[in-house]
Amino acid sequence: MSRLANELTIGIDIGGTSVRAAVVDAEGTMLDTLRAATPPTATALEHCLDRLVSELRDRWTVHAVGLAIAGFLSPDRQTVRFAPHLAWREVAVPAEMTQRWGLPVFAEHDANSAAVAELHFGAAARGHNTLVLALGTGIGAGMLMGGEIYRGSFGVAPEFGHIVVVPDGRPCGCGKHGCLERYCSGTGLVDTVVELLAQSEPGHSVLAAESQADPGSLTGRRVAAAAAEGDPIAVAAFASLARWLGQGMAMIADVFDPDLIVIAGGLGAASGLYLDEAREHYTTMVTGAGHRQLARIRPTQLGESAGVIGAAKVAELGLAALAEATAYPGGHAQ
Ligand SMILES: [Zn+2]
Repeated sequence: MSRLANELTIGIDIGGTSVRAAVVDAEGTMLDTLRAATPPTATALEHCLDRLVSELRDRWTVHAVGLAIAGFLSPDRQTVRFAPHLAWREVAVPAEMTQRWGLPVFAEHDANSAAVAELHFGAAARGHNTLVLALGTGIGAGMLMGGEIYRGSFGVAPEFGHIVVVPDGRPCGCGKHGCLERYCSGTGLVDTVVELLAQSEPGHSVLAAESQADPGSLTGRRVAAAAAEGDPIAVAAFASLARWLGQGMAMIADVFDPDLIVIAGGLGAASGLYLDEAREHYTTMVTGAGHRQLARIRPTQLGESAGVIGAAKVAELGLAALAEATAYPGGHAQ
């Protein structure tokens, strides 16, 4: 494996809004980064990836590409089955891109990629059974059991964003009501603010005038900035998020008993606004509280770069696995 240690790989995080690409070294350092808006069609997306990879390869010698994809992959990660915000449907993306670029290409679910990055270079470094919850537009989850990604039986585990924390709560795109994602993602946070504004006195919050003037201006990021300045509605919205996040983590811990939970995603950077309170709710709500060891709960160390750094690591690990398969065909290394 040491032969590969100094080789560079490209990681590409393909989200519903933007595509981020970076050349990453073996220490997880990004040496060169590019960003583009996510194109709406599969053809345009593939051309966009061609352009990003080609531009980075003009400047660096790289040996593989890893793709972090916000969608469902087949268990062998050779096919993108479905992605709610991307145009690929049952497409053998790694094989197609390997052919286009003449480089080995590996794919991974985006939350798993973030978990891999946090494990090797970030907040999950000392975790054994670790849950990474990415609070972004939605909620992504990656689970590491004994340091290995847990993929379930059919490659789609885990979807913790869709455990129900509020019976008969807000409707969710998955068909259920009251999913964790509808309360603890950036989108859920904005919905909470809208609900609170409807119940509050006019002029009570700076967000009231802003959202009236431009409803699109109300984003998770804006609510976080307002909460940091002490806006009462934004602070109350984060208190609500903390409550449901604490409950959600307690439910997950009842099933999985992790030793570490890492809060990542866009809201991971704002964890100072809610994490202590969420931890208190978690501590109160987890079954057997006071009589069991509780998971440590930490914010991300890699922020929104976790996906792209993880994708590059996935490429490095994929290359190493290929090298091993070539050295020991039909068997495994002793
Ligand atoms: Zn749902």
